[in-house]
Amino acid sequence: MKTYAVHVGYCSQYDPDRVEEALLRGLENVRLERPLTGRIVIKPNLVMAHPAIATEGYTRPEVTEAVLRLIGRRGRSVRSIDIVEKSGLGVTTASMFRWAGYRELARRYPIRLHAMEEGKKSVVVLNRGRVHRHVTVARPMAERDFLIFIPKLKTNVLSHGYSGALKLNIGTVDGRERIAHHHRDLPVKVVDLLEAANPDLIVTDGIRMAFGGNQMTQGGGDVGVLVVSTNAVAHDMVCCRLLNLDPSRIPHIREAMDRGYGPASFSQIRITGDARVRDVQAVTRKYHSGFMPVEKFPCAFKIVSGEPLCIGGCHGIFLDWLHMVKDRKPKLLRRFPRLTAVIGKTDRRIGDGRVLLVGSCASASPNIRSKRIVRIKGCPPTHKRIVWDMMVRYFLLAPLVRPSLIIDGFVLYPLKKIKGWLVNL
Ligand code: SF4
Repeated sequence: MKTYAVHVGYCSQYDPDRVEEALLRGLENVRLERPLTGRIVIKPNLVMAHPAIATEGYTRPEVTEAVLRLIGRRGRSVRSIDIVEKSGLGVTTASMFRWAGYRELARRYPIRLHAMEEGKKSVVVLNRGRVHRHVTVARPMAERDFLIFIPKLKTNVLSHGYSGALKLNIGTVDGRERIAHHHRDLPVKVVDLLEAANPDLIVTDGIRMAFGGNQMTQGGGDVGVLVVSTNAVAHDMVCCRLLNLDPSRIPHIREAMDRGYGPASFSQIRITGDARVRDVQAVTRKYHSGFMPVEKFPCAFKIVSGEPLCIGGCHGIFLDWLHMVKDRKPKLLRRFPRLTAVIGKTDRRIGDGRVLLVGSCASASPNIRSKRIVRIKGCPPTHKRIVWDMMVRYFLLAPLVRPSLIIDGFVLYPLKKIKGWLVNL
């Protein structure tokens, strides 16, 4: 029976020297299964970074710098190093590279920053895909020899409270492919994408952890660990344990276990390193994931949850929007108008006052009688759509509604997409 090593090592400072030491200690216990050579691709988590309102939920550059030093030490015949990313919320990845400090890294190391929406892409056929038969990924990703994931240790209400190496794969696809099946099929989609981007090395930034709210805007707390592994499933199972979560109850991890991408149980995992799991658990026990049924979120909205239950879709994305407000503008929660928000299709009779229908299924609810209905379309609606519609329909300005991000999302982003379209002609 194959066993998988996962190293959990202490590292308490965002100092590249300290992180590099911790990483080298990790690689004494976790042996690389493939040579660190040729075209190397690094995928961090830069879904959103902003100096004022998204300060904790991304991979810090000091950790990526330690990985770059490792490549310098251990790499053989390295031809190229690409840092590939696609940010979230329909803003430019170039801005995330800048705000997260990766432009500065690119000045000091021989790397290329590849923003997926404006760079060359390739189609990859998925022979084992269940909801995707093929996907379009960044060309360096398709042509790589070695892939390194550097996730952030953080919670995410779209994936039952945990985001890690497997979920990082959502950032390897773009546009319609990214939102397709981003509903109750999300666990299957995440595992399908492994065929196109299964990392050879995973180094998780757990020096500080982001928790308790929206995946982009939530706050953080010290944990002081670096997690190193060569298998994404084993890595995520151990990280769940560090967060006092049961990985078999996280559907995308369960799906990956069942489809044979890693260990089927903890008996196949050997946890090494100088950080004791129970000590880390004692720290993270204070940090709530923020994952809850959306109708239980405390606010002035009356929220009705219908069918299907889409944690990765309407239910999770609307909960994520509520968390975004709570994270950075909690006073706004008290100014919410009285309305009934329907998520998913329901047979309940809803007839009084204002009604908000989130997603296509909610619009198919047969017993809604109100003259003041607002529909947010999509299956699911994107974060950007919810932020925009809640702003223009109810004057609820989410914290991410800022001039810099509006220009970025509505002016620069379309231009970058046009550039991407042209270079891929
Ligand atoms: S519209 Fe929303 S609730 Fe309906 S299937 Fe799509 S994501 Fe799920």
